[in-house]
Order: sequence, then C-alpha cells, then structure tokens
Amino acid sequence: MKKIVVLSGAGMSAESGISTFRDSNGLWRNYRMEEVASPIAWQNDMDLVLEFYNIRRKQLFEVEPNDGHKAIVELEEHYDVNIVTQNVDDLHERAGSKNILHLHGEMKKVRSTIDESLVYELDHWELKKGDLCEKGSQLRPHIVWFGEAVPAISEAVNIVSQADILIIIGTSLAVYPAASLIDYAQTNIPIYYIDLNANDFSFKSNVKCIAERAGQAIPKLVEELIKSK
Ligand code: NAD
Repeated sequence: MKKIVVLSGAGMSAESGISTFRDSNGLWRNYRMEEVASPIAWQNDMDLVLEFYNIRRKQLFEVEPNDGHKAIVELEEHYDVNIVTQNVDDLHERAGSKNILHLHGEMKKVRSTIDESLVYELDHWELKKGDLCEKGSQLRPHIVWFGEAVPAISEAVNIVSQADILIIIGTSLAVYPAASLIDYAQTNIPIYYIDLNANDFSFKSNVKCIAERAGQAIPKLVEELIKSK
C-alpha cells in the first residue's frame, strides 16, 4: 500500500469553528503569545495561562470534525495514512483517523510539572490551580509552548521521509520546526498544499497549491487519489 502523509495545521479545524492562530477574529487575538503560551508565562501568571487553555478546552467539547477530517478517514481504506498534526484538538481522532502524531501536544491532556512522563486525559474542560499529579505537583496543559523543544519532531521527520504522497493542509508554514518537515519529503513525490493562502507561496514543481477551504478541497482530492490508486 502506498503511504500518504498528511501534515495538518490550524486551518484544518477552522471550519469546525476553532480559531486559527493568525485569524484577525481569532481567540488568540486577545492575548499576546508570550503571555499565555510560554514557560515564563506559566511562572509569572499561572491563572492567566490556565484561563486561556480552559477557554479553548471548553470550546473543544462543543465542536465537531468537519468534511475535511472525515474525508481523510476514507483515504485510510485505500492507503497507509499517517497524520502529523500541529493541532492540539482531537478532531482527527474523533473523525476516526488512526495514526496521528501530535507535534504540539494535546488540549485534552495535562501533565505533571515535575515528571513529564505523567500525562493524564482530562474528561472535563477545566484545569485548576491545585490540581495535582500523583507525585503531588501542579498539573499543566500538555502543550508544547513557545521556546520549548518539540519531542515528536524526529518521529515526524521519519514519517515524512517515508511518504509516497504528502498532503499539507491549513498551515501558514510559519511555525518551526513543523514548517521544515516538507524538506524531508523524498525528491519529486507529489505534494499537495491546501490552504486559503496557498498561492502566496512559491514551491518546487512537484507541489500543487490548492487555494480553497479544507472542507471543500480535501473531499475532492481524496476522491481523485482513490480513483488514481
Ligand atoms: P496558522 O494559524 O499559522 O495558519 C493557519 C493557516 O490556515 C493559514 O495559512 C490560513 O490561510 C489557513 N486557513 C484558515 N482557514 C482555512 C480553511 N478553512 N481551509 C484551509 N486553510 C485555512 O496555523 P499553524 O500553521 O497550524 O500554526 C499555528 C500554531 O498554533 C500551531 O503551533 C498550532 O499548534 C497552534 N494552533 C492549533 C489550533 C488547533 O489545535 N486547532 C488552533 C490554533 C493554533
């Protein structure tokens, strides 16, 4: 079976109602990044960081996978599909996809601040000051913050380097190291870049830019890829 690797970013979930990072009407607009998504922020104002992620986690319990997430699941009947996502939502999982690597963590998980191997699933939206891990330390969001290492990046590089086809969806290709993953694809494999702003970029000739909504473009591309299998 041919291997398709999907790299997804915030635009993948935009039509489900989750704000992207740079949207002018996005949830992130009201906060300066370093005030809410960095280790310094956690040290200086834990309440603000908890509030920021609690609002976003709450929203996650209210949204659903969109047609793009669902179409990728269909692809899995015909190809060996791996998803490497920058998204911290669980919409690929809830649509039914199986092989998903979260580069930047997961919103519905929390972890210990003294032992990062202690990761817990939250079944409710609110993480509070005083919520402790089994070793007695404060729990924090299981998110890769700005300035922190991206532990899953080497696994992601390995996955991308094995792709026969690469599909990049809804990412501004601005956040590193995620944005550099495209460079690890084998030379001349077909690459599809679906993003509302896809035409603003110039790529090598093996990259086809599709400047459409993910929920519109992915089902069409999936149909095409299944037919040409
Ligand atoms: P980004 O916000 O930098 O870029 C989003 C991209 O999506 C833009 O290029 C935009 O043109 C495109 N887009 C918006 N709506 C679209 C649609 N309907 N269809 C297709 N494309 C669309 O996001 P990024 O590149 O993923 O990086 C931002 C960082 O923020 C990541 O680190 C990510 O972890 C985090 N983030 C995650 C979520 C989430 O989990 N859903 C949401 C916001 C931000």
